[in-house]
Amino acid sequence: YCITSDEIRNIFLDYFKKNNHMQISGSSIIPKNDPTLLFINSGMAPLKTYFTGEEIPPEKNLCNIQPCIRTIDIDEIGDRHHLTSFEMLGSWSFDNYFKEDAIKLAFRLLTEGYKIPKEKLYATVFAGSEKLGLSMDQESADIWKEAGMDPAHIVPQPFEDNFWGPTAETGPCGPCTEVFYDTGEEFGEAYVPGGHFDTKKRYIEIWNAGVFMQFNKNTKGEYENLKFKSVDTGAGLERLTMTLNKLNSVYEIDSLKPIVDLIQEEMKGTEVAERDVHVMTDHFRTSTILLAAGVQPSNTGRGYIPRRLIRKCCTIIHKYQVENFNYEKIVDKVIKHYAKYYDHFEANRANILKMLQQEISSYNEILKEGIQRIEKICEKSGDIVSGNDAFVLVTTYGLPYALVEEYVNKCGKKVDKEGYKKAENHHKEISRNESAHDKDDSQISNQELKDLESSLEEIVETDFSGYEKLS
Ligand code: ATP
Ligand code: MG
Ligand code: MG
Ligand code: MG
Repeated sequence: YCITSDEIRNIFLDYFKKNNHMQISGSSIIPKNDPTLLFINSGMAPLKTYFTGEEIPPEKNLCNIQPCIRTIDIDEIGDRHHLTSFEMLGSWSFDNYFKEDAIKLAFRLLTEGYKIPKEKLYATVFAGSEKLGLSMDQESADIWKEAGMDPAHIVPQPFEDNFWGPTAETGPCGPCTEVFYDTGEEFGEAYVPGGHFDTKKRYIEIWNAGVFMQFNKNTKGEYENLKFKSVDTGAGLERLTMTLNKLNSVYEIDSLKPIVDLIQEEMKGTEVAERDVHVMTDHFRTSTILLAAGVQPSNTGRGYIPRRLIRKCCTIIHKYQVENFNYEKIVDKVIKHYAKYYDHFEANRANILKMLQQEISSYNEILKEGIQRIEKICEKSGDIVSGNDAFVLVTTYGLPYALVEEYVNKCGKKVDKEGYKKAENHHKEISRNESAHDKDDSQISNQELKDLESSLEEIVETDFSGYEKLS
């Protein structure tokens, strides 16, 4: 490694402290007094009240490192640069400096602090929206040029990409400008001004170098000026480590590669797909972080996430028929890494391992019973296993649908897919009506849970297609 993630953290904090920012500590991933959020998903999330003026920050300029959880990215896991957990390097200005200082600070840190050649850097700016009566952020584009950014590397992007909006209906918002790193031509077409900017593969977003909070979206949907302006920035530590070391993906960086290696060792003798190793790396790591924060696996609310992530790992291990997979070694590695920065990892070690073991052994029991049950149902059924039977297997045994289908096919039969979909939709209707009355879930916004559940359902289903290729 030409630069370690430790060095990257330190350079960031030292730089902002030298430039008059006060370092504050990160918050727990479990939001305090924020019912709209499942987990802390950015550095600004715990600081929301500073933007609205409801609370006064300890200083006008702040910086920190914030652990983040993004369940919304779960479908992306296995690509080069999305993880369900990562650390965000953040800096803020409340009612103090605005676009000019923010952009110049960012450009200098990237080119001088991290020594990134400027040919590698691109910046996106808000292109404006006629429909919403918002103009193009020409000011940011001009400041980037003045700071030294190649004018051909300044990319105007639409509202969806470069306007940071409130997650709720109203609240502070504004245009943003983001920095991308060019990982080279082997990853896709070069950007030409006016053409397509490929942010999926070739150009990796490393820093939201400025959300310029200047509007308040009011109840009429209008953008009125805020009483004071603020800047919010956030850079992904794992992505910076990946790009600064010219690595192909985040799974090769110093904090993740050792976990990948351990998993590969445990999977030795199988033809495990790289993607599965990466998914397990991500999911074991995030589960450990969630368990360390005291999130107990369960069927509802926050606990649903570690349960799904751990079960996903178990089904992968089961798919390759690996016995005696050493989970503890993996989790231990994650604990050791984070223990350097956060006290609660070591302090909760025994509890983390206990919860993990319980979750794994209960799921393995479920898997075993479920598979026996599939075989029994197959014996009783004709050529077709009814949709209802399949649905009961999925819901009462928590088996992924694809696994049920696979085992049914192994018995030489087929599942009535249409019938299965019908049963599933019927169930969704019922639980939607129930959850409208369910007070316990009021902690988490329904939309977020809904999004979450549908994305998790999908991952369990689609990922299992790999099953067929193996047998
Ligand atoms: P992307 O478009 O790649 O999904 P984003 O625009 O959603 O990223 P932001 O909300 O702007 O990300 O967060 C700030 C920074 O946090 C990003 O520039 C990136 O470096 C990092 N980041 C965001 N999501 C992830 C993730 N899932 N895994 C790792 N780092 C991330
Ligand atoms: Mg994203
Ligand atoms: Mg983005
Ligand atoms: Mg972004």
